[in-house]
Amino acid sequence: MIDDIAEKVVAGERLSFDEGMRLFRHSHLPELAALAHLVRVRKHPEPIVTYVVGRNINYTNVCWVKCKFCAFYRLPGQEGEYVLPLETVFQKIEEMLALGGIEILMQGGLNPKLKIEYYEDLFRAIRARYPQVILHALSPTEILYIAKLSRLSLEETLARLKAAGLHSIPGGGAEMLVDEVRETIAPLKDKSDEWLGVMRVAHRLGIRSTVTMMYGTVETLEQRMEHLLKVRGLQDEGHGLTAFIPWSFSPNGTPLGDELARNGTWRRATGYDYLRSVAVARLMLDNVDNLQASWVTQGTKIAQIALRYGVNDFGSTMMEENVVSAAGTRFNVQIQEIERCIRDAGYEPRRRNTRYELLPVQPPPAVTPPFPVSEAVPQGFARSRLPILRAD
Ligand code: SF4
Repeated sequence: MIDDIAEKVVAGERLSFDEGMRLFRHSHLPELAALAHLVRVRKHPEPIVTYVVGRNINYTNVCWVKCKFCAFYRLPGQEGEYVLPLETVFQKIEEMLALGGIEILMQGGLNPKLKIEYYEDLFRAIRARYPQVILHALSPTEILYIAKLSRLSLEETLARLKAAGLHSIPGGGAEMLVDEVRETIAPLKDKSDEWLGVMRVAHRLGIRSTVTMMYGTVETLEQRMEHLLKVRGLQDEGHGLTAFIPWSFSPNGTPLGDELARNGTWRRATGYDYLRSVAVARLMLDNVDNLQASWVTQGTKIAQIALRYGVNDFGSTMMEENVVSAAGTRFNVQIQEIERCIRDAGYEPRRRNTRYELLPVQPPPAVTPPFPVSEAVPQGFARSRLPILRAD
């Protein structure tokens, strides 16, 4: 029974760790949906579901961190490594603009050859040529490494990146903000306090961000709840988070997927688990305005249903993604398809910017999908070996 929790939700009161755990274990999923939807309607009364027309650009795949869930990276010097030439980045932006896009989400690996000057030059070049484009770039993990490589404080690093044109930060690399989990799935990666520390400084400097959660690896439900409460605490401090974006681990082609399959401890995250997770997130994250669907990992059908489980945003068109796709998840949804999914679920689709502000209603783009997408990586780098997506 969760009647007492339902009363608190109706009254707008904050839920505790123990109450969150009862929600995670509550067997009646439609009751979770009803409560989560109540919160969604309270925050977003209009029957609108937003999305952004944007493009992912993975500027480099060079990385030494060897996260066990990642099929995207190449070690420094390994065959297939790349750093995208500036002209290729420009070409990708041109293609996005032709489709009416406004945002590029740039993320890559931790490349030991790229110090802060590389990013300043890249951002300044993009901003000079395409001043209208929003730069949503660099996860906290990348920013920490840039600061370390460049021997700068976090404050200096973020201030310089902001001065060069960085608008906001994607919440990638959060995975599970619980060190016991991080030590198992990504032992060389930053710890949860380091990741949160970057976000704190960014929010203080007026750089807003999203935050993600990758579940379905080795974590317990209690650890998922710990992650949610850390996110809620971060938002209490700086109010810089625009959205929460959960998704499930895509195991194909990853060392962690192989390891869990070998020792028989892995259970594929289900649609049921996803819907439960977004509903509980909507109920626990009372101070985060937006909850984003992950159609890339869940498919559009589950993403549509999630619109009745607290989700109010369909994320980005992305146009290309090199992380989840190489891990076996191949949902590439076009603008019209996103809008159709939203309409079929009973909502009006509306485009937004990275700050989740609604854009004026626009006519359909002159160029319609299939996207004229250029090669995501230099020729010779087999697409079949490409990994993931970061939809944050
Ligand atoms: S997830 Fe990011 S940090 Fe980890 S190995 Fe892949 S590219 Fe590197």
